[in-house]
Amino acid sequence: MEEKHRVIILGGGFGGLAAAKKLKRAPVEVTLIDKRNFHLFQPLMYQVATGSLSPGEIAAPLRGVLSRQQNTQVLLGEAADVDPVAKRVTLCDGATFEYDSLIVATGSQTSYYGNDSWREWAPSLKSVEEATAIRHKILYAFERAERSATEEEARAWLTFVIVGAGATGMELAGALAEISQDQSARSANHTDGRGATRAWRVPRGFVRKGGEAGDSARRGGR
Ligand SMILES: Cc1cc2nc3c(=O)[nH]c(=O)nc-3n(C[C@H](O)[C@H](O)[C@H](O)COP(=O)(O)OP(=O)(O)OC[C@H]3O[C@@H](n4cnc5c(N)ncnc54)[C@H](O)[C@@H]3O)c2cc1C
Repeated sequence: MEEKHRVIILGGGFGGLAAAKKLKRAPVEVTLIDKRNFHLFQPLMYQVATGSLSPGEIAAPLRGVLSRQQNTQVLLGEAADVDPVAKRVTLCDGATFEYDSLIVATGSQTSYYGNDSWREWAPSLKSVEEATAIRHKILYAFERAERSATEEEARAWLTFVIVGAGATGMELAGALAEISQDQSARSANHTDGRGATRAWRVPRGFVRKGGEAGDSARRGGR
């Protein structure tokens, strides 16, 4: 019997899933490999980060999504290396898979522009773990503000800085404003819901390696 053309797809995000679905009726054998066994709907991640959705509400098991696709199998594994000459993928645990065609759809990473030590204190928003870490930081800050001795201390806990004013940054800022109003309805103490949102433009290159912002950024200059 003639062997089917083997397609390996690395990554079950939007790109990998779309590719797998397009191949549903193709005479090929598809293997989708992802380091997580679920598809994450990233556009709603800010709602997990701000507590209005739980992680399970934005994650769908990859096997479930592709269960009706008979030519496709889903495997859990993290790709570590691709040998394009031998047409072989190696996973972190040493397992190898040979392919005839390879689709790499492993997504992107947040860049800290050389300041990787910031990652620990200022998580990016690309995974469920990061979203829940941000949620913990935000909710903890509101709790600490609630038992602050002075208004100044409470203000410090309730000052959030979001770097990046694309869709995600804007959505996060809006959700923070909503949380603050929600908290003020429930609490009579320091969370008074009168929060202000200020936007500063920091020109590219103004954040120096080592963590110091440039003069203009410190002044909030434009
Ligand atoms: C917070 C947020 C909000 C967004 N909002 C919107 C929006 O409103 N509208 C919009 O159009 N776009 C939005 N985007 C962008 C959109 O989510 C991305 O463009 C899209 O997810 C990219 O798809 P992808 O398949 O390339 O990568 P991803 O969706 O990131 O998928 C990559 C997959 O690869 C897997 N993977 C990574 N490395 C490996 C490895 N070594 N081995 C195996 N598997 C691996 C990951 O587990 C993941 O499942 C948003 C993104 C974020 C982070």
